[in-house]
Amino acid sequence: MACDALTLANAGVRGLQPYQPGKPIEELQRELGLSDIIKLASNENPLGAGAAAQAAYQAAAADLALYPDGSGFRLKQALAAKLGVDAAQITLGNGSNDLLDLLGRIFLSPSASVVFSEYAFVVYPITAQATGARPLVVPARDWGHDLEAMAAAIQADTRLVFIANPNNPTGTWLTQAAIRDFLTSVPENVIVVLDEAYFEYGDEASDGVALLADFPNLVVTRTFSKAYGLAALRVGYSISSLAMADLLNRLRMPFNVSSPALAAAEAALSDVAHLQQSVAINRAGREQLMQGFAELGLTAIPSAGNFVAVELPVVAAEVYQRLLAQGVIVRPVGVYGLPRHLRISVGLPEQNSRLLQALAIALKADA
Ligand SMILES: *Cc1c(COP(=O)(O)O)cnc(C)c1O
Repeated sequence: MACDALTLANAGVRGLQPYQPGKPIEELQRELGLSDIIKLASNENPLGAGAAAQAAYQAAAADLALYPDGSGFRLKQALAAKLGVDAAQITLGNGSNDLLDLLGRIFLSPSASVVFSEYAFVVYPITAQATGARPLVVPARDWGHDLEAMAAAIQADTRLVFIANPNNPTGTWLTQAAIRDFLTSVPENVIVVLDEAYFEYGDEASDGVALLADFPNLVVTRTFSKAYGLAALRVGYSISSLAMADLLNRLRMPFNVSSPALAAAEAALSDVAHLQQSVAINRAGREQLMQGFAELGLTAIPSAGNFVAVELPVVAAEVYQRLLAQGVIVRPVGVYGLPRHLRISVGLPEQNSRLLQALAIALKADA
C-alpha cells in the first residue's frame, strides 16, 4: 500500500516551499571547482566569533554527554542584567527564528490573520502559511514598513503583527517615536512582534526593550547570529511580559539551545570589544559599499543593518550568476518581491572591494 504523505499533510504545510538559504561556499566549490570564494549572502559577521566565545564553546566539549541546562539560567541572568529586565521575561530560542515560529504556533490558526510588510523577512510568510493564518501584507513605504497602513490593516481576527527593525532585506529602520506611536494605535489584544535581529548595528533604530513596560502586547526578539557572530550555534531570545514568556515556555521544546551555544553566547555577551569592533567594521564597510555602488551608477537602499540592497538596471538573477562564476556569493531577493535587487552582506574591506570589482565586470556584460 502506498502512503501519499503530501495529501495527508496539513493544508498550510502542503502549500510551503522549502526556505532557500544563501548558497554555501562548499556548494559553489563543488559546482564550479573554484577555491577562492567569498560569501556575502547571509548577513554573517565577517570577523567571525570572538576569541572568548570560541574558548567557551571549546570548553563545553568536556560535557557533551550531558543535556544542556534547559532553563538556560546563566545566559538568561546575563541577558537580564544587561537589558535591565527580569530574567523570567526572557525566553531562549534555537535562533530567534525558533521564537518567531513559536509565536506563530501560539497565536495563529486558519481563523486568524497576521499583518506584515511587503519586503519583510521570509519567516513571517512561512509562519502564516504553516499555521493557515491569513497574511495581510501591507505595501511598503520607501522600501520599509508603512506603520500607519499596517495599523489600518489590522482586522478583528488579527492576532499578530511582525515588524523587523532594522528590516531585512531592505535595511530600512524605524525610530523609537514611530514604533511608540504605532504601539499606541494598535489594539491591546493584538501581539506585536518586534524582530530586532540587527539591533546592535542600527544606531538610529528603536530599542524595543525600552517600550516593554508600556506595552504588554509587545514581544522583542534578538539574536546572537548577526553582530555577535554565532550564527552556527543557533541562539536567539525574546524579551516580553511574564505571561508571554510563560506561554513560549509551554511550547518551547526541552533543551532547544545546546550547551556549547549557551556557553558561547554568555561569553560573547561579555566580550564588548568584539561587538564594538564588529559594529565599527560594519559601519565602515557599509559606507565603502554605498560609495562603490554610487560609482557604478547604482542606487542602494540606505541600511541600518549589516547588508545593503542594491538595485540593478536589469533583473538580478543573471548578475547573481555572473558573480558566482567569479567566486562571489550574494543574495538574490526575488522571493522577497525585489527581482532587480541584490542583497549584499557587508564584508571585510578587501571582500567589499572584490565584490565591487566583480559587480562592475558582471554589469559590463549587459552594457
Ligand atoms: C537573521 C534574521 C533572523 C534570525 O536569525 P536566527 O539566526 O534564527 O536568530 C530573524 N529575523 C531577521 C529579520 C533576520 O534577518
